[in-house]
Amino acid sequence: MASLSTNFYDLTRDELLALATRWGFPGVHAARLWAYVYLSGEENWAKMPELPARFRTKAEAELSFGRLAVAIEQKSSDGFTHKYLLSLADERRIETVLMRYTGRVTACISSQAGCAMGCVFCATGQMGFVRHLTPGEIVAQAMHVDAILRTAAPGAALAQAQSHSPHGRHERLRNIVLMGMGEPLHNYDSVMTAIDILCDPTGLALGGKKITLSTVGVVPGIIRLADEARPVHLAVSLHGATQEERAALVPVAKKWPLEDLMEACRYYMRKRERRIFYEWTLIEGKNDSAENAHAVGRLLRGQLAQVNLIPLNPTAGYAGEPTGRDAARRFQQTLAGYGLPSTVRQRRGIDIAAGCGQLATAR
Ligand code: SF4
Repeated sequence: MASLSTNFYDLTRDELLALATRWGFPGVHAARLWAYVYLSGEENWAKMPELPARFRTKAEAELSFGRLAVAIEQKSSDGFTHKYLLSLADERRIETVLMRYTGRVTACISSQAGCAMGCVFCATGQMGFVRHLTPGEIVAQAMHVDAILRTAAPGAALAQAQSHSPHGRHERLRNIVLMGMGEPLHNYDSVMTAIDILCDPTGLALGGKKITLSTVGVVPGIIRLADEARPVHLAVSLHGATQEERAALVPVAKKWPLEDLMEACRYYMRKRERRIFYEWTLIEGKNDSAENAHAVGRLLRGQLAQVNLIPLNPTAGYAGEPTGRDAARRFQQTLAGYGLPSTVRQRRGIDIAAGCGQLATAR
């Protein structure tokens, strides 16, 4: 039977304080509970003795911690990438990825179960849309990764990742990319509530600059993001530099054409005075020619932009091949000629299908 209690992780700090007030308790109790859970990761009420007993009893009766049970955990052969298949309360499943780089750990978080956008080379798009995630289900993914970092015994890979940790022996989660399953701007309100919770300075206190939100080009969402001055970094999946080429890979381009997308991006940059990261999946023989690179250059010339090139990762539903290293480098050189900085994404976690565009579940 579904739980009738409120998921703690669905609540912003203000909402938790208002709830405590309705229960007849001073806000300070709720503020202490909030900080305790997010700073310690503790979810066991019996281990919160500093909370007044009456408040703790009421909170325990009314709130639950919407845990995501790990159905399957996979580690990449190099040990740097961990992928978690997580079960939601209604048995739906999502995937979350922990990625270790030198001096940095990043969680790749899902915003939806499945995705309605249908990008042809993406395993999530190939499985279709299942449902939106709640704010609590998004926050709980971050808490899951944070708990792993807090409790892990330092091993070789972890020690490397910890080498720049300001938290001493154990790492805490500091970086999030909303690039897992789903289109974040298609689930705008839940995603923004989750970001508010993750960034609350008395909780996990992630800086907005440590969160990157990736969209396939939901134009109204980009404009709203600019108007609301959300502090996150914005990444826009481009993949094609003409309307026709882009629409062949990203069907949602038929709804929000390239011209409208570019106008929204320019609006965002003007309003936020922020760089946009453009993502370009490099598919051999499809969008990796010199002409393609020049088209990207002409399209983005003069923008405060960086292009992230991502050699295609394999999925069951798409037959394309990734662009090789030399061709990727030539693509970069062409972009540089237009004053556009670029990176080629490190290929990590491919052996456990944890790379860009590879996340999927059996609904
Ligand atoms: S690439 Fe992103 S937006 Fe496109 S189908 Fe996959 S998850 Fe959805």
